[in-house]
Amino acid sequence: MAGIRSPIAVVVGHVDVGKTLLLDKIRGTAVAYREPGMITQHIGMSFVPWGAVERFAGPLVDRLRLRGRIWIPGFLFIDTPGHAAFSNLRKRGGSVADVAVLVVDITSGLEEQGLESLNLIRARGVPFVIAANKLDRIYGWQSEENRPFLFAVERQEWHAVAQLEEQIGRLIDQLSRLGIEADRYDRVRDFATQVPIVPTSAVTGEGVADLLLVLAGVSQRFVSKERLTVRDGPARGVVMEVKEERGLGTVADVIIYDGVLRRGDTVVTAGLQGPITAKVKMLIVPKPLDEMRDPEDRYKYVDEVRAAVGVRIVGEGLEGVVPGAPIVAVEGSLEEAVKAVGEEIAAVKIESDKEGVVAKADTFGTLESMVLFLRQSNIPVRRADVGPPSHKDVVEAALSRRRDPAYGAILAFNVRVPPEVEKEAQSSGVKIVRGEILYKVVDEYLRWANELKAKALEAALSQLVRPGVVQLLPGYVFRRRDPVIVGVRVVKGTIKPGYLLVRQDGREVGKIQQIQSHGAPVQEAKVGDEVAISIAGDVMVGRQIKEGDFLYVYVPEDHLKQWLLQYRQYLRGDEREALDEYAQIRKNWRK
Ligand code: GDP
Repeated sequence: MAGIRSPIAVVVGHVDVGKTLLLDKIRGTAVAYREPGMITQHIGMSFVPWGAVERFAGPLVDRLRLRGRIWIPGFLFIDTPGHAAFSNLRKRGGSVADVAVLVVDITSGLEEQGLESLNLIRARGVPFVIAANKLDRIYGWQSEENRPFLFAVERQEWHAVAQLEEQIGRLIDQLSRLGIEADRYDRVRDFATQVPIVPTSAVTGEGVADLLLVLAGVSQRFVSKERLTVRDGPARGVVMEVKEERGLGTVADVIIYDGVLRRGDTVVTAGLQGPITAKVKMLIVPKPLDEMRDPEDRYKYVDEVRAAVGVRIVGEGLEGVVPGAPIVAVEGSLEEAVKAVGEEIAAVKIESDKEGVVAKADTFGTLESMVLFLRQSNIPVRRADVGPPSHKDVVEAALSRRRDPAYGAILAFNVRVPPEVEKEAQSSGVKIVRGEILYKVVDEYLRWANELKAKALEAALSQLVRPGVVQLLPGYVFRRRDPVIVGVRVVKGTIKPGYLLVRQDGREVGKIQQIQSHGAPVQEAKVGDEVAISIAGDVMVGRQIKEGDFLYVYVPEDHLKQWLLQYRQYLRGDEREALDEYAQIRKNWRK
């Protein structure tokens, strides 16, 4: 018995844009407008039946000419909004989510995590709509509970509409810079190339009808019937959460997107060490609201579930299962199922001997999006795995560090770091960056790496003798022989105590002992400075050197090469001139 299932929908976006409230509103609508006895609760998902949407959206269904044209049974909304849940909805080559709602705050546009979500949505090829939420915050906007946006906008004062248009225009510009064409949904001419923007308010419920109708249209158009067809075969799904339940032991909350799962089935899923086999002892689903007698009496046991469904599995061997892991029921050979799952999770991990950072995350889903994000940020990854940082991770990071100190880092997302690993990392000079928000972890790493690079550069540069040319000022000879003390003007470049000075023809003059400016010693003098210097060397002013002569800082050959080939950009303009002049006169010395 094959049938069409509801598309699985996920809500993502930056923190505080109103994802939770919007989902609550949608779920509340489903409950309020459902047919009696209809189940709307799943484990981890809520069913929003099309019938309920139609009753709720009323006249807008006709206005958009959708009546009788919708064949999806409704939506299955993932109950947990946000990046982490979406990450865990992974499956090979894409997402278990069929469609996504990207929520942005209409007053502030797309923010960092929204951008991160957008990247993930695009990387996984999920069709999406944008909810421009907090419509009620538009200055002068007159709200009316649950009114469709299309009707609401017609009743507004011109200045409120102008405000709205300005905000939407900004959002459109922002998206266009990211290569995404978007428009207010009622102006979209081609849904294949333009992303619809639906203004909503999770507080007043305005635009929620529009959002659901547009989502239905996009689902029917861009999610294939083939993808939504449920077969009778063994269940295929993804693990969303694993926890201990009193009296039940370890339970796994999973989303089954295809096939049938039965009590007694053997399933293959995955943990930190690889594939895990478990036997399904019980299947638990929430009771329909009408059957619930009291809040404690929330669940019931069933013998089988059919996709798409959210279900809690009680089973032996589920300990150690990691969220984001695939789960398949075994119908033929167990070995084949184990192999398939093994291959799928291997595709998420990285094990290489190339230089790059070590990435660790709490689930297969977050790990996959982390690697994706690192790639987009041009940060190479040497190793990626699920679980807390370990001894092996420190060893790998230390190996990477030997080739490039900036890659001696472990990026730990949503995992705790064992104290002994922390200590080991510290003593091997390995940096551990941890956090609960992906872009922040990456930002912090980049900041650290850049600082490290800047310091390394500074250290390298401080080792090099800088080029410089001075002229002996006529009338300022304070001492004629060793140590010579003369007044000079720095013509180009820099001089420092310790630098050796030579004549234009290469003859050695002596080492600068001290530099004095206005009677006080200084650590360097730069182009334009007039200072007194003492030179220790076997020369006499009036013999080997004369007033008015130009003297050059002797730059050792390997320093010269480094300046010319590697660090030229870090010299001032006058230093570059001094360097070129020095390189030029030097050629004649060899003759
Ligand atoms: P989330 O972090 O994206 O899940 O955001 P929440 O749903 O928790 O909302 C964050 C804050 O914004 C809460 O204080 C909400 O009451 C408020 N909020 C959410 N949606 C709206 C909206 O449409 N209009 C207004 N005025 N406030 C909203």
